[in-house]
Amino acid sequence: MIKLNNLAGPCSCGHNHEVITAHIDTDKGAAERMPEKLKESGFSKVWMVCDTNTYAAAGEKIEALLCKAEIFAGKTLLSHEHIMADEYSVELTESSINNYDLLLAVGSGTIHDITRYVAFQHNTPFVSFPTAASVDGFVSSVAAMEFGGLKVTLSSRSPIMLFAEPEVLKEAPMDLTCAGVGDILGKYTSLADWRMAHLITGEHFCQRIYDLVLKATEIVHANIAGLSAGNLTAFQGLLDGLIISGLAMQMMGHSRPASSGEHHISHFWEMGMVEGVDPNALHGEKVGMNELRLLKLYKSADWDKLLALPIKLRDIKPDIRLAYKDLADEIIELNTPDSADAIDPELVKKNLEEVKAIYAALPDSDELMELMAGIGCTVAPETLSCSEEAMQYSIDYACYVRNKLTLLRLLRIVER
Ligand SMILES: [Zn+2]
Ligand SMILES: [Zn+2]
Repeated sequence: MIKLNNLAGPCSCGHNHEVITAHIDTDKGAAERMPEKLKESGFSKVWMVCDTNTYAAAGEKIEALLCKAEIFAGKTLLSHEHIMADEYSVELTESSINNYDLLLAVGSGTIHDITRYVAFQHNTPFVSFPTAASVDGFVSSVAAMEFGGLKVTLSSRSPIMLFAEPEVLKEAPMDLTCAGVGDILGKYTSLADWRMAHLITGEHFCQRIYDLVLKATEIVHANIAGLSAGNLTAFQGLLDGLIISGLAMQMMGHSRPASSGEHHISHFWEMGMVEGVDPNALHGEKVGMNELRLLKLYKSADWDKLLALPIKLRDIKPDIRLAYKDLADEIIELNTPDSADAIDPELVKKNLEEVKAIYAALPDSDELMELMAGIGCTVAPETLSCSEEAMQYSIDYACYVRNKLTLLRLLRIVER
């Protein structure tokens, strides 16, 4: 059980962490407890958004519970093929909702993005009920939409409450669970990069959030095999890990603790920068696969060479012009000033050994690959039509997708 009162409020890192999601219940019987909690909070007309699969998985039961409590206003049951968080799904949802005071998303990431987007547009609060442990975005404050055929991340809102049941998640399709595992394991490199950047540039860092997310990641890692066996504790750990990662982003107000090079490569593909690579694979499927590759790369980094003083950085503009073509001007602007300009030689001298130790402590890629493959996770780039050449190209150029100091970026821009 996640204790929210340990997360929000003033912190020794100097920030006053804000958490918007005020109630989280992920224990057995959460669905039964939900109507009473919603009533208590002043809601009387709950509108549910779900699809055919998630209605069968949990929606039908939730509808009955809300009806019994006399707070069910109606539902949008999306039933078209290949449901995406696009104009069509938004239009269907918006044209059906009426006479409600709260929206309730019952489903996986896509249903959440649709509901979150509509809730934001209509200035209504929303509540989350995930039916698959597939992504860390349930409590996120941004909606990943696909408008005009393009993937866009829009400011939106976090759910005010989240309810979930490990029993429901256990029954979800295994590829969704695998995606959740991949998204969480990506935190190993995200956290390492965050701490490294703090140690050599002084970027803001919160030990409390770092410890929380690392612990959640290690719990998922230790329980991977249990997921294919349908072990409820393993599903509870995965769900809690995904929620904690999402809460960490709420607490920081950005994605630094939960996203780094492994996500940047995935975004690079989604932007269509590498021809042939399937951009439509599940988010966590791409992230987990990239994580395996980055762990190999990161653990073999020669830090004595990489951070040898004086550090000379290459001009990043030719790289960006070559890889980002029409988007080059925008990406150059995004990367100005270069996050690596903040590297402080004094901090490098002082903290080099600690930086080395962070990356040395990362898990072994082969061992992790075996565990992931064992439950059916995608581990080979070829599965997503990504050749070795395309992967290397992505490793070289994806670091400019965001202006964050990552090891992926250092490996590209430090002149040696
Ligand atoms: Zn992610
Ligand atoms: Zn803090």
